[in-house]
Amino acid sequence: MSKNNARLFVISAPSGCGKGTILSEVFKDRDVFYSVSCTTRAPREGEVDGVQYHFIGDDGFKKMIDENEFLEYAGYVKHFYGTPKKPVFDNLEQGRDVVLEIETNGAFQVKKSYPEAVLMFILPPSVGEIERRLKKRGTESEEVIANRVKEAAGEIAKAYDYDYVIMNDGLEEAVEDFITVMNSVKTDDGRADKFKSENEEIKKMINEVLDYDA
Ligand code: 5GP
Repeated sequence: MSKNNARLFVISAPSGCGKGTILSEVFKDRDVFYSVSCTTRAPREGEVDGVQYHFIGDDGFKKMIDENEFLEYAGYVKHFYGTPKKPVFDNLEQGRDVVLEIETNGAFQVKKSYPEAVLMFILPPSVGEIERRLKKRGTESEEVIANRVKEAAGEIAKAYDYDYVIMNDGLEEAVEDFITVMNSVKTDDGRADKFKSENEEIKKMINEVLDYDA
């Protein structure tokens, strides 16, 4: 067991489920190492190299693959994203929890190579809700919206294979549930059990989120 029982938490959520707000609340007072990924995509306005991402371009990314420097990497909407391996294991060895916020393919790669990783999925209240939000924003065509909704549904269907699933239908409760899971996993006090994806209740919840009128 690592020092302080330090754990690797891998978090995924489809866009539009309020992930950013939950995570900034959860981690504001917590001593964790928040992994900075590498990506081939260009920075968006306001993004700073080394803060949101290491923006390394296609050649830099390829070099890191060749030199086996990624814990995982995946393609996502025309670009590549990857987690640098070394800082993750350095921090775990020093006894600090590590958090990765990555998409589902990468999450399953991590679980395969490092089974002690804790996979957590944040569920939006419904797929219909994502669709409503995108429509309300009014910046995308019907076709693009339909694709995004389909993509979100595909991602949510993978929640069944995560270790823990947390529903975000209210910020305060979602933050509390998230913290409960993280603390409980470290102390093994059983309080996280009700969030396990193998529970019938949780399976039913995922089914209900996926059951929407397109
Ligand atoms: P964005 O381009 O909007 O910042 O991120 C797109 C997606 O890539 C998000 O789902 C995000 O969680 C995921 N992502 C960010 N970093 C990584 C990474 O290192 N590996 C993988 N597999 N996905 C990542």
